[in-house]
Amino acid sequence: MKEKDVNAVEAKIYNKKNSLFLRSKYYNFNFNRKTGFFMRWGETPKDDPNFSPFGAEILDLEISSGGDCKGKCDFCYKSNGQPGQPTHNMSLDEFKTILDKMPPTLTQCALGIMDIHTNPDFFEMMKYARSKGVIPNYTTHGLDMTDEDADKTVKLCGAVAVSLVNKKKTYDTIKMLINTILNKKVLIRKKKKEEI
Ligand code: SF4
Repeated sequence: MKEKDVNAVEAKIYNKKNSLFLRSKYYNFNFNRKTGFFMRWGETPKDDPNFSPFGAEILDLEISSGGDCKGKCDFCYKSNGQPGQPTHNMSLDEFKTILDKMPPTLTQCALGIMDIHTNPDFFEMMKYARSKGVIPNYTTHGLDMTDEDADKTVKLCGAVAVSLVNKKKTYDTIKMLINTILNKKVLIRKKKKEEI
C-alpha cells in the first residue's frame, strides 16, 4: 500500500452473518467471528499491508490493575499482585464508552485482567462486546477458574490463553476449558439428532 493513498481512499465495511468485510482499493480484510479466521491484503492478495489505515482491528484493554492478583509474578508488566498496591477496576460504563467510540473496523478485544473475579463486570463486559460483534479474549493465570467461569468463557470468548504460573493449575484449567468445549459440542449434536 502506498502511504500517499491512506487518506484519499474510501473504504466500505459490511456485515454478512458471522463475517465482517472491509473493501477498499489498497486495503481489505475478511473476518469470521465464528472461526476467528482473519485475512488482510492490499491492492492484490500478494500485498501484505503494514497497518490498517481505516482504524483499529484489535483493542487491548486493561480492566484491572493493582495488588489483588493471585499470580504475584515477579515479571508482571503491570506490577500486579504486589503488596500495598490498591486495586483499580474499570467500570462497565467506562468499558461501554470506550467500545462505543471504536471504529467499525474493530473485530476483537483482548481484556487484561488479574483474578477472574477481580473485576465484577468482567463477564458483562465480554457480553457487551459480543453484542456489538466484537469477539473478546483474555489471558488467565489459571489459579481460580471454576466450572461456571469455564462455561461462560466458552460461550463468550473467541480465545483464551492460560499462563504457566503453576503447572498443575494450568493443566487443570486447560482441561476444564477443553471438557467444557467438548460437552457443548456433544450437547449440540444431541440436540440436532433430537430435531431430526
Ligand atoms: S498473573 Fe498476570 S496480572 Fe497477575 S501478576 Fe502475573 S503477569 Fe501480572
